[in-house]
Amino acid sequence: MHRQIVVDPRRVRLLQEGSNRNGVVVYWMSRDQRTEDNWALLHALQIANKRQLPLMVVFTLVPDFLEATERQYAFMLKGLHEVEQKLRAYMIPFAVLPGDPAATLPRFLKDVKASVLVSDFDPLKVKRIWKRDVAKGINIPFYEVDAHNVVPALYVTNKEEFGAYTIRPKIHKLLPEFLTDFPSLEEPVVKEHYAERVDWEALNSSLKINHDVKEVATFKPGSAAAERVMQNFLMKKIDHYNDLRNDPTEEYQSDLSPYLHFGQISPQRVAHEAFLRVKNVEAKDAFLEELIVRRELADNFCYFNTKYDSFDGLKDWAKLTLNQHRDDRREYIYSLEQFETSATHEDLWNAAQLEMVKKGKMHGYMRMYWAKKILEWSESPEEAMRIAIYLNDKYSLDGRDPNGYTGVAWSVGGIHDRAWTERPVFGKIRYMNYNGCKRKFDTALYIKKCRV
Ligand SMILES: Cc1cc2nc3c(=O)[nH]c(=O)nc-3n(C[C@H](O)[C@H](O)[C@H](O)COP(=O)(O)OP(=O)(O)OC[C@H]3O[C@@H](n4cnc5c(N)ncnc54)[C@H](O)[C@@H]3O)c2cc1C
Repeated sequence: MHRQIVVDPRRVRLLQEGSNRNGVVVYWMSRDQRTEDNWALLHALQIANKRQLPLMVVFTLVPDFLEATERQYAFMLKGLHEVEQKLRAYMIPFAVLPGDPAATLPRFLKDVKASVLVSDFDPLKVKRIWKRDVAKGINIPFYEVDAHNVVPALYVTNKEEFGAYTIRPKIHKLLPEFLTDFPSLEEPVVKEHYAERVDWEALNSSLKINHDVKEVATFKPGSAAAERVMQNFLMKKIDHYNDLRNDPTEEYQSDLSPYLHFGQISPQRVAHEAFLRVKNVEAKDAFLEELIVRRELADNFCYFNTKYDSFDGLKDWAKLTLNQHRDDRREYIYSLEQFETSATHEDLWNAAQLEMVKKGKMHGYMRMYWAKKILEWSESPEEAMRIAIYLNDKYSLDGRDPNGYTGVAWSVGGIHDRAWTERPVFGKIRYMNYNGCKRKFDTALYIKKCRV
């Protein structure tokens, strides 16, 4: 007996109308690379079952995505391999289409005689361009489902928010409606003939990526690993999240960002588990503030401000103050190569850079310090943003994420922040210094740990 799955229509947007046919329903998996707790997949299943049609899932694999490296590709492909295996258990075929989505997906949809296309929501420019271009090549209905935000990004507000203080009340008001459990996935009523297995080895060797940045042992890829990381955090770490998460010599962050970035675990699942299970109210609130409010604020920034990765995307007050201090004398100016090879004069900054290069993730507190020093030691704020984004995207497993672009725009350009006391180079952008770090944590211990 099949249950009727209902996905909240406020998560769903019709991107393009189309003619109704009776072919397979296709979920184009992109940002949310998981089978469980995935509203976009559930929505595709809902349509398929209602119309008595088969369902399949496709992933389009661009061989050189925004200069991603072996580190990120390997993490993603191993996660997708797990997706294929799990979908098989539900009798849902899975295919990977190598190449540019605008070229491959419309052709594929025609070949399989698809009747409906469903995809997941992503605020980043490149993904929106893919969807726009795919839409031009098809004439079937095309839906987008927000499977990444607890409160759907385009429902909570229709404009760029000023900061956490403006989006927080809007999110909190809607949480009782959206912070729910998920229905479980089930086999479609009508099953599609099984597709060929994905040739993962052939896909791997077709990639034109940077092989110098290798996989890291610190993070095991995939949804099963993500689940273990979440359980470990909720059982052993979250009680100290409020007081110790900003100490980079300790390990009280969740370490979930790589999994959240690739959609290997659902933010709503993590939030729901924390909401139900964690007794320590301060710790729970602090964690949900980051996981829901700050993360969803980043999606809001990137969706409504398409210049999120450049100086032009900053607020007028920040551009004004940075322009007024553009010609200030810098005590040090480093090239990208010097930054990249941890060759600045400062041991603490070099350690943070090394942590990211070696571990695939820098501690959250150090990320702020790291980016602010890049502003202090670069020729211009434009150059600082470029370098910070380049290095973060190259070495971090969670790079190329709205959180990363927003984090850089916050550190270098005061996005979602306020004006502070004026000083050289930074103008009124918030400043951070070595002594502040020394007061907060044992900098020598952190430096030692990063070198190991
Ligand atoms: C310069 C700079 C660059 C950053 N680059 C990235 C990036 O590339 N990818 C990325 O996911 N985050 C980035 N962040 C935000 C934040 O530092 C990371 O999300 C966090 O360190 C990830 O580790 P965690 O999952 O252990 O965090 P936890 O503290 O356990 O937080 C849980 C989750 O909450 C969300 N979160 C936490 N802090 C923030 C924040 N400040 N803004 C938005 N969401 C947050 C993330 O989804 C995170 O995974 C950046 C911040 C700065 C200042």
